[in-house]
Amino acid sequence: MDRRLHLNEMQVPLPKELFDGLDLDLVRFYPLEEAEAELKVRIAQYAGVHPDNVFIYSGIDGLIELMYKAFWDKELLLHEPTYYVYDREALRQGIAVRRASLRRSNLPDYFYDMAEGRIVVVVNPNNPTGNLLIDAEQAVRILQKAAYLVVDEAYYEFSGVTMVPLLKQHPNLVVFRTFSKAFGLAGARVGYMIADPKLVSTFGQYTEVYRVSSLSILLALRALENRSYMERYVSLVKEVKTKLIQGLKQRGIGVKDTAANFVIVEKEFAEFLEGRGFKVRVFDTFGRLTVPSLEVAEEVLRNCEDYRREA
Ligand code: PMP
Repeated sequence: MDRRLHLNEMQVPLPKELFDGLDLDLVRFYPLEEAEAELKVRIAQYAGVHPDNVFIYSGIDGLIELMYKAFWDKELLLHEPTYYVYDREALRQGIAVRRASLRRSNLPDYFYDMAEGRIVVVVNPNNPTGNLLIDAEQAVRILQKAAYLVVDEAYYEFSGVTMVPLLKQHPNLVVFRTFSKAFGLAGARVGYMIADPKLVSTFGQYTEVYRVSSLSILLALRALENRSYMERYVSLVKEVKTKLIQGLKQRGIGVKDTAANFVIVEKEFAEFLEGRGFKVRVFDTFGRLTVPSLEVAEEVLRNCEDYRREA
């Protein structure tokens, strides 16, 4: 269980406070409106927006599916590579997609011209490359042309960079966030959108009722109330990431830092780790490892010697 380095999940156990006194008997009822309303308020406080700007759904994956239903008549612009669900789901729903390849992991200049009139999705920081693709100025350049700019901030807590403050001036901004990464609730399936209230109600019209379970809503509320565990985890990830990168470099393994909770490594090393029972992601030209716990990071480093010997 502890060598799951392929899905960027939390690598340490959640704190007990999160579960203490949880009233599991609530599953008798359909998800309570009061609990969802409270979660909206808490998320709004956390993100620095009004509760009317918040739409809660079953993870960013659920939001992607819903977005394409709401934007069925629009053309989409994606960068490549991007988080794979954007592409897969567009294909499934028959959405017209234009793609622009990243250049040295950055958006090419023509991406901004291609934004005109389209739904533009920017994953920031990107998955799988791990780097930030836009700053506020570049986001505004896109917002001035695009029908909507969707910024996926799944890794916001690790990067510390958000476009949310631009919403005041730019109602065509949409931000997706999740409880799956820094809050460690991937199995609960809770994500949220921050957007103009008009878009929030449009999304509401396309929603299946009760898509987020009552227990997931309660867990997300607990997570926001006990937020310090998330902050400690973000610090731990940064600490272990620095050690892992240093260790890999010292051992002559190609490695690249990211603004998220994973690192990029040379493809052959990722494949080697796979052979040793680690779950990792291997792409065409590189591998991706979730930043592990300190113990597992040490185990990864111990494997370098064998890798070098066998290479
Ligand atoms: N967006 C990005 C960029 C991701 O990397 C991931 C998870 N790998 C997701 C969205 C999925 O988030 P969720 O668990 O909220 O569906």
